[in-house]
Amino acid sequence: MSKSAAGTAENPGKNVAQKSGLNKAILDQGWGEFRRQLDYKMAWKGGILFAIPPHYTSQECPECHHVAADNRQTQARFVCVQCHYENNADHVGAINVLERGYRLLACGDAALSRSMKQEPTEVSQLSSV
Ligand SMILES: [Zn+2]
Repeated sequence: MSKSAAGTAENPGKNVAQKSGLNKAILDQGWGEFRRQLDYKMAWKGGILFAIPPHYTSQECPECHHVAADNRQTQARFVCVQCHYENNADHVGAINVLERGYRLLACGDAALSRSMKQEPTEVSQLSSV
């Protein structure tokens, strides 16, 4: 999420100063402490916190589970290239994270590692949520 946008000498990045400011703001939030507190509070209230791998959650169709970068036509719009399911991309990501959480709860880590191995090779870049 806070990867530098500087690029290389041959292929310089765009909006490097803006991304640098965003990176500082992200890192200043103390996400590790936020997660620790969330885990603590959930346990205190009798809940369980699951850390779900976010890879491809915004590129996977919640209907047919087809994963492709082309499913994300814009930052906000998700249209499955296989079954034509449409929704807001953030909503699709949330659906997939929830589904992975249910699978983790029902089947343990094996359910998530199996789904990660099923990622097709056509996905050219990792999404960071
Ligand atoms: Zn689909």
